[in-house]
Amino acid sequence: MNNDPSTQTTNEVTHSNHSDVLAELAQLLDPASIITDPDITSSYSSDHATGVAVGKPLAVLLPKSTEDVSRSLAIAHRYNIPVVPRGAGSGLAGGANAIDGSLVMSLARMTKILEIDPINFIATVEPGVINKDLKAEAERFGLSYPPDPASFSFSTVGGNIATNAGGLCCVKYGVTRDYVLGLEVVMADGTVMNLGRRTKKGVAGLDLTGLIVGSEGTLAVITKATLRLVRQLPKPAGTLVAVFNSLTSLGEAITEISKSCTPSLLEVMDDTTLAAVEKMTPMGLHSSIAAMLIAQSDLDGEAGVAELDLIKSIAERSQATEVYLATDTYEADALLQARRLALRALERLGKVLLDDVCVPTSRIAEMMAEISAVAERYSLTIGTFGHGGDGNLHPTIVMPTDDAGKAAAEHAFSEMVGRAIALGGTISGEHGVGLLKKRYQDIELGDHQVKLIAEVKRAFDPNWILNPTKLVDQ
Ligand SMILES: Cc1cc2nc3c(=O)[nH]c(=O)nc-3n(C[C@H](O)[C@H](O)[C@H](O)COP(=O)(O)OP(=O)(O)OC[C@H]3O[C@@H](n4cnc5c(N)ncnc54)[C@H](O)[C@@H]3O)c2cc1C
Repeated sequence: MNNDPSTQTTNEVTHSNHSDVLAELAQLLDPASIITDPDITSSYSSDHATGVAVGKPLAVLLPKSTEDVSRSLAIAHRYNIPVVPRGAGSGLAGGANAIDGSLVMSLARMTKILEIDPINFIATVEPGVINKDLKAEAERFGLSYPPDPASFSFSTVGGNIATNAGGLCCVKYGVTRDYVLGLEVVMADGTVMNLGRRTKKGVAGLDLTGLIVGSEGTLAVITKATLRLVRQLPKPAGTLVAVFNSLTSLGEAITEISKSCTPSLLEVMDDTTLAAVEKMTPMGLHSSIAAMLIAQSDLDGEAGVAELDLIKSIAERSQATEVYLATDTYEADALLQARRLALRALERLGKVLLDDVCVPTSRIAEMMAEISAVAERYSLTIGTFGHGGDGNLHPTIVMPTDDAGKAAAEHAFSEMVGRAIALGGTISGEHGVGLLKKRYQDIELGDHQVKLIAEVKRAFDPNWILNPTKLVDQ
C-alpha cells in the first residue's frame, strides 16, 4: 500500500492517512470547525438534487477565514483527499453532494459583508453571505445587488457565483456573472490568489475570474468576492397576469414580448404547478387553465404603464383567455411568492426530477409543446415553471414509485434535454452540471471541449481533489 501522501491518487487514500489528515487539521483549526459525527456530517452531505449519488464524508470543515481554507486545502492536497466546497446546499445538480471520504468544506460561517463602497458601487463580501442579506445591506446605501435566484433568501453569494445563478430579474438585469468584478480564491494546493479587479474596465491577462464563475467548486474555493452594485432598482410599476389555455400560446406570447420590450420579470407556471402551489398554500390561484404568465415592468410612470399595456395586447393577440393587472402590491407579492414556492409545492406531490433546460426565446413555444408531448407519451405528471423571458424552463417530473414509471421518467428527462439541445438550447440554464447533467455535457459541447475543460481543471487542480467527481471526468 502506498502511504506516501505526495504520490497517492484519490483512489489510494487509506484509513491510516484519514486519521493523519484529521490530526493535522485538528492542529490548525479550532475544534468547533471540524465535525466528524456522522449524524451531523450527513446533514451537510447533499444538496437539493434528487437521483444523484450522495457520499459519506470523512469530515465537515467550517473554516472561519481565508487562512483556515488555505491551510485545510494544503493538507488535503498533500494527502490527495477530495474536498467538496459548500454554501447553503440549495443547489439542484448535486454539485455540493459529499463524495466518500471527502472533506466537505462549508463556507457558511464566512458571513461578513466587508465593504459597501457607494462611490464606486462595489460590495466586498465573504462567500457565506446570504444573497438576501447583501441585497438588504446594499439598499441601506441606496444601491442594489440584482442577482435574485428564487432561493435568494437562503442561498449564499459564494454558491451563487460558483453556479453562476440566474433568477427572476435576469431577463432585464442579467445573471450573477454580470456582477462579479473580482474574487479572492484559494487554489487546490492552498495558494491564495486575487483575481479580477475593482475597476469598471480592465483587460489585463485572461479572464480567470470569469472562469471561476460557474465552475461549481471544481477549480478553486471562493473566499471573497468583489461585486458590482447598481443604483437602487425601481419598484415595479405593476404586475400583469395572463392566463392561457395552451402552453404553445403562452410560448408564442413570450417570444413576441421578448422581441418587443424588456420587462423586469417574465415568469411562467403551468397548471400542474399552479395546482400544487394552491394545494400547499391556498391563495385562490386557478389551475383550470394551461398556464399563467407573470410580467412586471419597472419603468417609471407612464413608460411602465405603456410597457404593461404592450404586454397585455401581445398576450391577448396570443389567445390569452384572461389578462389582468394585480390590483395592489399585496396581490403582486402573493403572485411572486406563488412562483417562488413552485418547486417546494411540486416536491410535496412526491419525489421530483427537476430539469433546467434553456432555449432561445424564439423556440420556447416548441419547447413547451415538446414537454407536453413527453408528459403524455410517458404518462407522467410534469409541472413546468421557470424564467420564461430567458427561455429557461424547469419541467419537473413527479417521480412514479414503480420501476417502470421510474425508467419512463429517466427517458422523459433525457428526451427533454435532447430536445432543448436540438432547439439550439442548453442542458442547463442556471442550475449547473454537477452530477445530474454530467452525462449530457458532451452532447452539447462535444468531446474536444469536454477534454479542454478537463485540461483547464488539471491546470488549476493537478491532484484533482476539488469536487473531483463533478462537472467533468479526469
Ligand atoms: C427553492 C429553490 C429555488 C431555486 N431557484 C433558483 C433560481 O431561481 N436560479 C438559480 O440559478 N438557482 C436556483 N436554485 C438553485 C440554487 O439555489 C443555486 O444554485 C444557488 O446558487 C446555490 O447556492 P448555495 O449557497 O446553496 O450553494 P451550494 O448548493 O452549497 O453549492 C453549489 C455549488 O457551488 C459550489 N460552491 C459553493 N460555495 C462555494 C465556494 N465558496 N467556492 C467554490 N465553490 C463553491 C459547490 O461545490 C457546488 O458545486 C434554487 C434552489 C432551490 C432549492
